[in-house]
Amino acid sequence: MILFGPAGNSESFYNEGHKRTVEVFSWIAKMGLNSYEYSFGRGVRLKHDTALAIGKQAAANDVTLSVHAPYYINLATLEPEKATNNMRYLAESARAAKWMGAKRVVFHPGSQGRVTRGQAFEQIKKALVLAIAHLTNEQLFDVTICPETLGKVKQLGDLDEVIEMCKIDERIVPAIDFGHLHARGFGALNSESDFAHILDKLEDELGGYRAKHFHVHFSKIEYTAQGEKRHRTFAETEYGPDFTPLAKLIARRELEPVIICESKGTMAEDAAQMKEIYEQEKAKL
Ligand SMILES: [Zn+2]
Repeated sequence: MILFGPAGNSESFYNEGHKRTVEVFSWIAKMGLNSYEYSFGRGVRLKHDTALAIGKQAAANDVTLSVHAPYYINLATLEPEKATNNMRYLAESARAAKWMGAKRVVFHPGSQGRVTRGQAFEQIKKALVLAIAHLTNEQLFDVTICPETLGKVKQLGDLDEVIEMCKIDERIVPAIDFGHLHARGFGALNSESDFAHILDKLEDELGGYRAKHFHVHFSKIEYTAQGEKRHRTFAETEYGPDFTPLAKLIARRELEPVIICESKGTMAEDAAQMKEIYEQEKAKL
């Protein structure tokens, strides 16, 4: 089944007087949404009982959960202490995900730093082998980790790099952030064939479950010569990418990704809009 939902809580959710995330699942279910990404972007600080309460409410409203690991993870680091911490952040994210009943941990692979891109990439691959072993040791086998395509040119995580990372283990599922790919390609995603090229690559290189049920982040995005600048909203029509060409392809190819909207402030509203666009395209088949 294809899933649509927000990353975090819309401004309107708070404006209506809600305060706690545990309240968001019935709120988004009323909008027809069925997925939600919980952010540990600034650290994994969720208490066990809160995680259980979130998981219970999400399940009661048929909302599938994923989590986003801390933004400061950089698997390309050459410093042993930082590398150890990265493993801990991933494991903490995975453990909290398990408490909630979430199966996917999205993370940012890393940045190049002072070494060559090739050296940084090799470091990331080594760290991913360790991460999978670490999760297995911690009895977290059923949690998948999802390297995300990143928006800045200096970051490791273009489409080919993310696909290579996924080849390390079946439990590494691609998180295709189309806004980021658009930004790092300076407005690269416009026509249906621009999107088709990405989906074809997933099919040819990974195939199976991961080419059909991959993870998606989608938002409009502003960029500079360095790539990503900031996330925008669907109302800001001067920014791309447009979801319609992707929706056509997803419908025609019967793909079932988890689509998370990362619009700034209107993530739930824009996720609902994406679902509507997808349903219109599906009805035209
Ligand atoms: Zn991200």
